[in-house]
Amino acid sequence: MRKTLPDKHRLLLLTSILLGLGFLATSLASYYVSKSAIRSGIVENELPITADNVYSEIQKDLIRPILVSSMMASDTFLRDWVLKGERDVDEITRYLATIKTRFSAVTSFFVSERTRTYYHAEGVLKKVRESEWRDIWYFRVRQLDKPYEINVDPDLANRDAMTIFINYRVTDYQGRFIGATGVGLTVEAVKKMVNTYQERYRRSIFFLDRDGRVVLRADQEKEDTRDIRKIEGLADLADRILREGSGSFVYRSGGDTRLLNVRFIPELNWHLCVEKTENEAISGIRRVLLVNLLICAAVTAVVLLISTVIVNRFQDRMEKMATTDKLTGLFNRQAFDILIDPLLQKQKRTREAVSAVLFDIDDFKRVNDRYGHLAGDRVLADIARLAKARLRGADILCRWGGEEFLAILQGCGLADAVRLGEEIRAAVEAGPFEQDGRAIPMTVSVGAAEFAPGETIDQLLARADQALYTAKEKGKNLTVSLP
Ligand code: GH3
Ligand code: MG
Ligand code: MG
Repeated sequence: MRKTLPDKHRLLLLTSILLGLGFLATSLASYYVSKSAIRSGIVENELPITADNVYSEIQKDLIRPILVSSMMASDTFLRDWVLKGERDVDEITRYLATIKTRFSAVTSFFVSERTRTYYHAEGVLKKVRESEWRDIWYFRVRQLDKPYEINVDPDLANRDAMTIFINYRVTDYQGRFIGATGVGLTVEAVKKMVNTYQERYRRSIFFLDRDGRVVLRADQEKEDTRDIRKIEGLADLADRILREGSGSFVYRSGGDTRLLNVRFIPELNWHLCVEKTENEAISGIRRVLLVNLLICAAVTAVVLLISTVIVNRFQDRMEKMATTDKLTGLFNRQAFDILIDPLLQKQKRTREAVSAVLFDIDDFKRVNDRYGHLAGDRVLADIARLAKARLRGADILCRWGGEEFLAILQGCGLADAVRLGEEIRAAVEAGPFEQDGRAIPMTVSVGAAEFAPGETIDQLLARADQALYTAKEKGKNLTVSLP
C-alpha cells in the first residue's frame, strides 16, 4: 500500500489549494481596501461635514435671538423705565410678554442691577443673589467685557427645562451697567434639527458640556446627564476628548467599532459629537465579500470537477493503451499480470477449477511470407475475435506473444478446457480466412492445463506451454492437455 496520495489526487489538491488561496487573497485584499476607504470616507468627510452642518444650523438658529436681545438692551423704553426707578411692574411685564410672543421665545427677562429683581413675561420672578448657584450667570454677565454671552441652563420659570439664554448687558446712556436682559429659547429646536440629521444620515449626534456630561441627545426623552467617563468604550477617551475639544476618535462598544467626530461649539460651550458605527457602514461590502467567496468556491469546485473529469478520462485512455493490444483489442501481458492476481485470490477462496488454454497459430510465418504482413495482421485479428466469441465474461483472453494467445478459464476443469480448445481449433480450421478471394488455410495448435492447488501461475503456464509444444511436435492442428 502506498502511503502518499496518488499523483493525480496530489495534482488536483494542489490546483484547488492554489486556486482557493488566490481567490481568497484577492477577495480579502479588496475587502480590506474597501473597508479602509469607507472608514476614511466616514472619518474625513461624512462626520466632519455633518458636524459642520449641525454647527451652522445652530449658529443660524442663534442669530435671531441674539438680535432680539441686542434690540432689547438698547431699547430706550427699557433703559428709561429702569432709570426712572422701576416704578410700574405692569409696564415691564407687558413689554417682556410682547417680546416673548412676538419672537416666540420660551422666555424673556430683565434683571435690574439696582434692585436685583428678576422680571419676566409674567411679572417679578425673584431676586437674584450672589450666593445662589442659579444666579451665578448674572454676576458673570455683570463682569463681562463683551456685550453678551450665550448660556445653557435650566430655566426656573419653565419647570427647569434646558434653555439657551442670550444674556445681554444693559447700560445707561453713559455706558454704566444697569442690568441684564435677553430671551431664552428651548433646546427643542436644536434637538429636532439634530433628530432630522440623525434619521436621514443614520448617525448619532449628542452634545457634551465642558465637564463631559451628555447634555443633549436627540434620541432621548429626558436630558441625559450621564458622564462620558461612565459610557462603555468612551470612558478611556473622555479625558482626551475634553482636553483636545475637537478631533476624530475611534472606540469599541457593544462589539461594534464606532467612529466619532468631536467639534467644540464656543457659542454654547458644548462639544458636538457625531458618531457612526462602522459595521453598519460596511455591511454592504461584507455581503459583497461573502458573495465573492461563494463565487470563488463555486469556480474552484467547477475547475476541480472539470480537471477531475479530464484527468480521469486521460488516465482511462492511458490505462487502456497500456493494457490493450492494439491489433486484436485483447489484453496484453501487462494486463494479464494485473488481472491474474485477483483471479487466483478468488480461486483460493472458492476452490473452483481454473484452467489455462494456450494456442499458437501454425506456420504463421508462411502466411506473412505468402500473403503479406497486412494479411497476417487481419488473420491475427480474426482468430482473436473467433476465440473471444467462445469465451465467457469472467474468462481472460490475452495476446501472449506474436501469434500466440492465452485464455484463463474460471470455473473450468481440464475436460472443459480441452473441449473449448478443440472448439477454437476446429473453428480456425473451418475458417474462412481469405485474401483477394483466395482462401487462406489456417490452423492452430492448442495446449491445455488445469490449475493445481498450491502451484504458481508460472507453473500452470509452463505445463500449458509443454502441452502446446507436444501438439506442435505431434504435427500441429491438435489439442493436447496435461493434467
Ligand atoms: P509454428 O507453427 O512453429 O508456430 O511456426 P510459426 O511460423 O508460426 O512460428 P514462428 O515463431 O517461426 O513465427 C512466428 C511469426 O509470426 C514470425 C513473425 O513475423 C510473425 N508475427 C508475429 N507478430 C506478428 C504480427 O503482429 N503481425 C504479423 N503479420 N506477423 C506477426
Ligand atoms: Mg506459430
Ligand atoms: Mg509462436
